[in-house]
Amino acid sequence: MFKKILVANRGEIALRIQRACRELGVKAVMVYSEADRDAKYVKLAEEAVCIGPASSALSYLNMPAIISAAEVTDAEAIHPGYGFLSENADFAERVERSGFQFIGPTPESIRIMGDKVSAKQAMIKAGVPCVPGSEGELPDDPVQIKRIAKMVGYPVIIKAAGGGGGRGMRVVHTEAALINAVAMTKSEAGAAFGNPAVYMEKYLQNPRHVEIQILADKYKNAVYLGERDCSMQRRHQKVIEEAPAPGIPRKLIERVGERCVAACKKIGYRGAGTFEFLYEDGEFYFIEMNTRVQVEHPVTEWITGIDIVKTQIMVAAGEKLPFTQRQIQIHGHAIECRLNAEDAYKCIPSPGRITMWHPPGGPGVRVDSHIYTNYFVPPNYDSMIGKIIVHGDTREQALARMRTALGETVVEGINTNIALHRELMVDAKFMEGGTNIHYLEAWLANHNR
Ligand code: ADP
Repeated sequence: MFKKILVANRGEIALRIQRACRELGVKAVMVYSEADRDAKYVKLAEEAVCIGPASSALSYLNMPAIISAAEVTDAEAIHPGYGFLSENADFAERVERSGFQFIGPTPESIRIMGDKVSAKQAMIKAGVPCVPGSEGELPDDPVQIKRIAKMVGYPVIIKAAGGGGGRGMRVVHTEAALINAVAMTKSEAGAAFGNPAVYMEKYLQNPRHVEIQILADKYKNAVYLGERDCSMQRRHQKVIEEAPAPGIPRKLIERVGERCVAACKKIGYRGAGTFEFLYEDGEFYFIEMNTRVQVEHPVTEWITGIDIVKTQIMVAAGEKLPFTQRQIQIHGHAIECRLNAEDAYKCIPSPGRITMWHPPGGPGVRVDSHIYTNYFVPPNYDSMIGKIIVHGDTREQALARMRTALGETVVEGINTNIALHRELMVDAKFMEGGTNIHYLEAWLANHNR
C-alpha cells in the first residue's frame, strides 16, 4: 500500500478521499486554491499545499503545480477525484512520467473512452448495446449525411465526439434542418472541445438514464456493482440518484453488467468506471463511459457494502480486487439528493457565507459534505455543496428516511435546493419510480410558470 497520496481535488470529494486514506492508514496531502484555504479537509489535513489562486485554470487544472506539490511532499500517488483533471489523459500521462501512480485507468483507456466515437466503437466490438447511429464520425458530404439520417430515422441527435457536461448536442427533427445543425454543432465543438468531429445517434424520446458501476484491477479481474438510476436531471445534470433502478428486471441488469465487465477485460481497464446507458422500452443503449469515481458513488456503496474509493486506491497500489462477482449482493435501496448552493427552482447560483448548518442524522442517513457553520461558499466552482444519502430496506423506507433527513436539514445564509428536494420526495410520479430524463425539467417549467 502507498504511504502517502496527494488529493488533486476540492469540496466534498476531497474530504471523501481523505476519509478513505485515513481508513487505509495512508497519509493524504491536500491541495487547495487561495479560495479554499479554510476548507474543512485542509484544516483536518496533516499536510496541505496551496497550488494557486481561486481560478481553476491556475489551481485545480494547473498540472505543473499539482505535480510539484506531489514532489515536495513525497507523495507516491495522485487521486484526481471527479471533474477537473480526472478524465484528462495528458495529465494521467504526466503523473506517471513524473514517477507517480495515477489513481485511475491508464492514459490509453482514458483517451479511448474520452472520445465518444472511439468509445462507442470499442463498445460495439465488446458486444455492449449502443444507440443506433452513424458508424463513427460524420463525413463532410451533405448527401451522405442525409442518407445516414434517413437510415437512422428522425429525430436524430448530433453529438460532439469530444463533448461533455451535457454540452455539444443538437436534436434534429427534419431533413430540412439537418445540414445546418451539423455545421453548427461542428463549429461549436471545435471551439469548446478543440475537436470538431461529430457523430449521429437516434434521438430516444423518453428514455431513463441508467448506469452500471464497475471496478477492475491490474490483473484483468473486473466486477459490476449493479446499476444506478440518474434520470432526475436538469440541463443534463443529475440532481437525484438512486439504486437499484426501480422496475428494471434483475436479469436484464445482469446481462448488461456482464457485457460491461467483458468490455473492461477486453480493453484492460483498471480502477473504477461507469458505463452510462439510456434505457427505453426494456432495452439498454450505451452512450458514454466515465473513467473516474462519480458524484453518485455512495448509493452503490450502500447497497453493496463496498467502499469504491478505498478499492480505487487498493487496485492502484497493485492489489487484487478483494471480492468476486458472486460475492457482490444488493441490499435494500439507496437515494442521494445533491445539495446545491442555488435558488431552489430557478437554479441561479448562490455563493456566500453559511451562517447556520445543521446536517441530518439517524439510522440510514449519510452526509458527504465539506461545509460547516461560517463556511464561505466560493463563487469560483461548481455549486454542489454536499450530498444527503439515505438507505432503507425498501424504496418506500428510503423515501421516508430522505423526507425526515431533509426536514432536519438547515442551511442559512445562502439559498439551497433543499425545498426542491422536499417537494420531489412527496411527488406522486417520483414516488411511483421510473420517471424519464425529461421529468424534472418539465416539473420545473410547470412550477416556474
Ligand atoms: P455528456 O458527456 O455531455 O454528459 P452524454 O452522451 O452522456 O453527454 O449525454 C448526456 C445526456 O444527453 C443524457 O443523459 C441524455 O439525457 C441526453 N442524450 C444523449 N444522447 C441521447 C440520445 N441518443 N437520445 C436522447 N437523449 C440523449
